[in-house]
Amino acid sequence: MNIIDLHCDVLMKLWESKGELRFADAPELQVNKARLQQGQVKVQCFAIFIEPDLPSDQKFQVALEQIHYFYQEVLGKNPDIVHIKEWSDFDRLNIGQIGAMLTLEGVDAIGNDITKLETLYRLGVRSVGLTWNNANLAADGAGEPRGAGLTLFGKRIVQLNNKHQVLTDVSHLSEKAFWDVMELADYPIASHSNAKKLCNHPRNLTDEQATAMFQKGGLIHVVYNPPFVKTTGKATISDLIKHIDHFCSMGGVKQIGFGSDFDGITSFIVNLEDASKSQNLINELLKHYSEEQVRGFASQNFLDRRPRIGR
Ligand SMILES: [Zn+2]
Repeated sequence: MNIIDLHCDVLMKLWESKGELRFADAPELQVNKARLQQGQVKVQCFAIFIEPDLPSDQKFQVALEQIHYFYQEVLGKNPDIVHIKEWSDFDRLNIGQIGAMLTLEGVDAIGNDITKLETLYRLGVRSVGLTWNNANLAADGAGEPRGAGLTLFGKRIVQLNNKHQVLTDVSHLSEKAFWDVMELADYPIASHSNAKKLCNHPRNLTDEQATAMFQKGGLIHVVYNPPFVKTTGKATISDLIKHIDHFCSMGGVKQIGFGSDFDGITSFIVNLEDASKSQNLINELLKHYSEEQVRGFASQNFLDRRPRIGR
């Protein structure tokens, strides 16, 4: 069954290796083309992620370098990988093709310069998360003790996302910033977050947050990172499915998807260690849910609710 994965960090690894790692099949990558094919991942989102410790004046340069590797290593060397630049591009993928979409994980790279964000849109960025765990000029992240909401600049970014029909990603935001985004965003989404009720981690969403996301018509894509799945012991696929069960019990059955976080995580759910294992999750879900429901989680919920179509 075809899967849409809303989050991975493989661009950071391609950038760190300075072009040494082949996207086609490098075994060091949890997401590479061979593994996407094996796991039937039909569309993979590629996050631009910049280390918060990098000097501020180098961050936009690094964002452009990561985009360079996306164009050169991911797209350029793999003609069967197709760049998704518009929401309708999802409908044009042929059998054997894999879609690739750029996303931005935190706006640190643009500093206070909105034209840099416009440039990133033009290069293909279709989803923007305002922060990683730290604070920046737009908002506070989930790891920032101050816990503030959006700045005026952050609000401007959400409005610009709306205008361009770009998703605003709430994963990694502080709780206050989450609520500010929910007030303003036309296309809110949580690209890689689980339920706090089942695993009390600052990166996960409270029931109130999840309810608000579902009421607003947004999506929550569950993440395969063990610390966000379970507080103790080894995390299994069944443990991850408990988060899906929980979100479904809140009415989210048509608003749940997947956001693996591959290449951004260092521990793994058993039997879900890289993209090639993705169908193990599908097969386990099929024991609990109807085929139509599982198809929803895997891709259809996102397709139905992407901008221009469902919202
Ligand atoms: Zn992340």
